[in-house]
Amino acid sequence: MRMTVLASGSKGNSTVIASAGTRVLVDAGLSCRELMKRMAMANEDPSALDAILITHEHTDHVAGLSVLARRLRIPVYFTEPTHRAWVRQMTPRTAMTYAKWLDHVQKEKEARAALAELESDAARALTDIEAASAEVEAEDEDAPEAAIKRDPASLPAVEYFQPGTNFSIGDLVITPFTTPHDAADPCGFVFESVSESIRMAIATDLGYVPPNVKRALERIDVLLLESNHDLEMLKDGPYPWAVKQRVLSRVGHLSNHATGEFLARDYDGSAMYIVLGHLSETNNVPELALLSAEEAIRERGRLLGNRVMLAQQNAPIAPICL
Ligand SMILES: [Zn+2]
Ligand SMILES: [Zn+2]
Repeated sequence: MRMTVLASGSKGNSTVIASAGTRVLVDAGLSCRELMKRMAMANEDPSALDAILITHEHTDHVAGLSVLARRLRIPVYFTEPTHRAWVRQMTPRTAMTYAKWLDHVQKEKEARAALAELESDAARALTDIEAASAEVEAEDEDAPEAAIKRDPASLPAVEYFQPGTNFSIGDLVITPFTTPHDAADPCGFVFESVSESIRMAIATDLGYVPPNVKRALERIDVLLLESNHDLEMLKDGPYPWAVKQRVLSRVGHLSNHATGEFLARDYDGSAMYIVLGHLSETNNVPELALLSAEEAIRERGRLLGNRVMLAQQNAPIAPICL
């Protein structure tokens, strides 16, 4: 099993999780072009991705989503409230009542059905490459494809999941868990490869570590965990008061201190790798985050086997393979 963090930080997040037979991208918080570039840098083949999973609708997690999903023609997994918040965000001038939302879902279904019909007739003859380039280049105004593209919130396919209820994509079993964060329905994920019995987890964008997250993060082999800000840097830093309050709140982000506390008190020590992520460029320094986590681990002798690493904002880190 493999985790490749393509980007992590307040300016954009995206991670590839791969098992023997399945590959998914968690969040698409950089432009499609940049995500493709990062995947090339990390030796991750975008055409091998089976799906995109979204933790929540904040821009640093969805910036390249629609373009990437359409380019790769893969389904996007959301919770329904997150999908709705994202669609709203993509079409800001429309006041979306619930009736309008249902209408949107229905129209999207019809457009997809029309597209599927069209594809089953014509595209069957095309090779994958021809189909992909046709998608990028040809735009017949009357084709269902063009209709879908005119709607910035249209996606090749949408699947819903519910936090707390696991689901499978290929040989990956995914358990989404609710996180305390100021978004419509934010969540983290635990990934388990059935064939390899290895578990990896992503837990960023959370104001504190509630009991359900502590439980979700038990028996994890590779853990991507938020270490967003240094408390003093945030307090003395340039953010307006209201933004500081938001970050510090119970639905904001984990500080280095809070992450250290979790590691020292609640974490079960089972991970071979702990990757610290979602660092703020303004209110944190990688060395401080690392120092804080390592100190917490040092306090507990039996955690010394845990290797702590830093994810990066500006480049992918080397894939972690187990
Ligand atoms: Zn967020
Ligand atoms: Zn974020």
